Amino acid sequence: MSNRTPIIAGNWKMYKTMAEAAAYVNEFLGLVADASGVEIVLCPSYTSLAEVRRLTAGSNVKVAAQNMHFEAEGAFTGEVSPPMLKEIGIDDVILGHSERREYYNENDGDLARKVVVALESGFRPILCCGETDDEREVGNTEAKLEGQLVNGLAGIEASRLPSIVIAYEPIWAIGTGKTATPQIAQETSSFIRGTLAQKFGDAAEQVRILYGGSVKPGNVDELMAERDIDGALVGGASLAAADFARIVNFQ
Ligand code: PEP
Repeated sequence: MSNRTPIIAGNWKMYKTMAEAAAYVNEFLGLVADASGVEIVLCPSYTSLAEVRRLTAGSNVKVAAQNMHFEAEGAFTGEVSPPMLKEIGIDDVILGHSERREYYNENDGDLARKVVVALESGFRPILCCGETDDEREVGNTEAKLEGQLVNGLAGIEASRLPSIVIAYEPIWAIGTGKTATPQIAQETSSFIRGTLAQKFGDAAEQVRILYGGSVKPGNVDELMAERDIDGALVGGASLAAADFARIVNFQ
């Protein structure tokens, strides 16, 4: 185990009304009250963010947004800005989730701007990357990841790198029940760290690399045992408080 504190983040996507979110938090806080040596992050949808932030205040659970615009304000219907999230006490933000890239055409150029603005505005970005099934099949995984990392982090200096979290999420494993084997997840995370080291030097050792893709209570322990996996970004299995608490309490 490295000296990088693990992060277990639950991405609720477009699930849970505010009432459902509140009921979850009330159950979840008790289940993870004794968890130590791990950062716990919940990522509710925008309508529940402020309430979940309020309910978790003073606890060991942090709250992150699932996306953020790069402008502070403007005519961007449907978007949410950094100051709006700061106002309600949000410190972490997921950027470039594959669903945002696929359905909302977010590209590496947008993400490079978002990463810079997130850091300047005092957020910790959780930048997602990952390859499709086809890209892995034809041997393009490394080229895809390298492109996403180099372009998405284009505006970043090495000194800022440790404030960024990378989530490696193979698209073929998201919501499919098909988890990457610990060996594949480790090999790819190690490649990611190596790519960061080439661009940023020693700072790469301090970066937390999360694995995401059908993480469940039954597979989290073996994934977390791998050297370059510093946590998990969990979708489906974060929706039930007991399951997510078991993942947080990985062994
Ligand atoms: C995700 O959406 O980030 C994710 C990893 O989803 P799931 O755990 O459901 O595969």
